[in-house]
Amino acid sequence: MKKTKIVATLGPACDPDGVIESMIREGVNVFRLNFSHGTSKDHARRVATVRQAAKKLGLPIAILQDISGPKIRIGEIENRVLELRGGDRLTLTTRRVLGSKRVIGVNYRGLTKDVKEGNSLFLADGLIEVEVEKTNHSDIQCRVLNSGRLTSHQGINFPGGTLRAGVITEKDKRDLKVGVKIGVDMVALSFVRDPRDIGRARRILGDLGVKAMPLVAKIEKHEALSNLDAILEAADGAMVARGDLGVEIPLEQVPLAQRKIIQRSRQTGRCCIVATHMLASMVNRPRPTRAEVADITTAVLDGADALMLSEETAVGHYPIESVRMMAKIIRAAEASINHRRLFEETAISGSVSDSISQAACLIAEDVKAKAVLTPTAFGKTAIRISRFRPSPIILALSHNHQILRFLSLYWGVFPVAAARAHSLGDLFKVCVDAARQRGFVKKGDLVVITGGVPLNQSGSTNLIRVQKV
Ligand code: PEP
Repeated sequence: MKKTKIVATLGPACDPDGVIESMIREGVNVFRLNFSHGTSKDHARRVATVRQAAKKLGLPIAILQDISGPKIRIGEIENRVLELRGGDRLTLTTRRVLGSKRVIGVNYRGLTKDVKEGNSLFLADGLIEVEVEKTNHSDIQCRVLNSGRLTSHQGINFPGGTLRAGVITEKDKRDLKVGVKIGVDMVALSFVRDPRDIGRARRILGDLGVKAMPLVAKIEKHEALSNLDAILEAADGAMVARGDLGVEIPLEQVPLAQRKIIQRSRQTGRCCIVATHMLASMVNRPRPTRAEVADITTAVLDGADALMLSEETAVGHYPIESVRMMAKIIRAAEASINHRRLFEETAISGSVSDSISQAACLIAEDVKAKAVLTPTAFGKTAIRISRFRPSPIILALSHNHQILRFLSLYWGVFPVAAARAHSLGDLFKVCVDAARQRGFVKKGDLVVITGGVPLNQSGSTNLIRVQKV
């Protein structure tokens, strides 16, 4: 059973009958709705198909809504594509124009105020650099520094400065409402810069009547890297969004930033998803490149909780094969994870629940337990145990289905629905019975169980039991 989770982006490639169910069978734990594409109707229809397939297979599959955020884009270009050449003069304008080699529209009015002479802007995912020569209230005159091809609506990045566009746009607010209506389990926020952005999202969701939506901060701006610890403190998870991050910081820094985000997330008990270009060549071909296989292996060995597929499953020709391949690479890499090293690296805070979680992992390794069983009211003990990356599986048992679905994103955690217990003896029995019924353990296996009195209270984990099933 693989411990590193797979997030797969939904799109037209998943629409044919049976594709979503097959992707779950191959190892998808979480489906992502990318709100930069598709209509509300598309998203609602796909969520219904996921829920149906998950019910049929009896698995807690989660839905992650990814809202677009303030992506600055160029407007429409005449005939969709044009070639820019180094040395060309180009005007970026907030006026409504049909783009040509001389003048191209942008969708953010504040851009003329945020940049100044001498700044560099990057077009087409970082392919084309332009230097700002002059600005006025509506236009930015630039010199093109290198040649490249530009397509309508491609993104603009400003790695050397800060854009003041609000992180949650009017479209995002409408999309959050749609997400709540169709019942997403967690939300990813694009272009987060600091912890206040997370607070804003929580307030908007609160106004929609949602009190506890898990929020994943996409780390794709240079400002987010500088504020990483504070963002992790405010959010429930992080995504290494390598697409935009690879434009915002020098490309060669991206793998190092990835390693740092994974490490800081694990230390702080936040889940970490590594995203973008993991199996990019499988959009068009049935087998990946050697470099892609190495990239996935590195992310697993570094301790990522989850890996994400984007175009591969949303619009690629091989969505099911991509998931199968990713699961296969993950399994091979996991066979050589150094659990002891990861355990020893994990810092503890001195709290009772942290110490109990650490001790439960140590005992489970020593007695070669088949599983660590962790009844959990809000998911916290399961998350604490996952941080130590133990080799036995972690079964999180709860009656709260939203918590169970969120936990499906965490490394090594297998969510299991279980009845609410009314006494300590009942708690251990409920856990072991649920684990046995679901086939995770069998008669004679040793299991380590964490528990807490008073029962069903967050933060009450204070005991460990070792039991033979
Ligand atoms: C990314 O930039 O890597 C990413 C995951 O975000 P998006 O797919 O929204 O560009």
